[in-house]
Amino acid sequence: MSYANCCQPYHTGNAIPQTAEALMRSRYAAYVLQNIDYIVTTTVPAQQPLLDRQAVTDWAKQTDWAGLEIINHMPKLGKRHASVEFKAFFNTPDGMQAHHELSAFVKVHDNKSGIVRWYFIDPTVSMLVTQKQPCICGSGEKFKRCCGQFL
Ligand code: ZN
Repeated sequence: MSYANCCQPYHTGNAIPQTAEALMRSRYAAYVLQNIDYIVTTTVPAQQPLLDRQAVTDWAKQTDWAGLEIINHMPKLGKRHASVEFKAFFNTPDGMQAHHELSAFVKVHDNKSGIVRWYFIDPTVSMLVTQKQPCICGSGEKFKRCCGQFL
């Protein structure tokens, strides 16, 4: 698909990815385009202030991206989670390499607007939340029974 018919509407805020896979693809595209705001705003809101924005920027800029391959999309892990296994390829002086990852996503229902959005759960962000506290995604469930399983 062309950019205009795929990830661009997500990047401009005119559409919301309806699946974790669509969100994953649009995040990869945002890395390629160095759209750091999109990387930040599609991470679980509670983690956003803890993201190392400079490190994300540097990584996006310094990487010579070479493609994305979705290996597996598990659209429904329990009530509100999904996972996407993927390989993000990049060129290095020693040839093409792949960053192979299994990412977790959470679906958040905003009670005010009624809008449902998928967010990336960043496993590299350490959070001061105990297993029994309410989850960072705002689901009202205990952290350990919700997103804690994926962190
Ligand atoms: Zn949660």
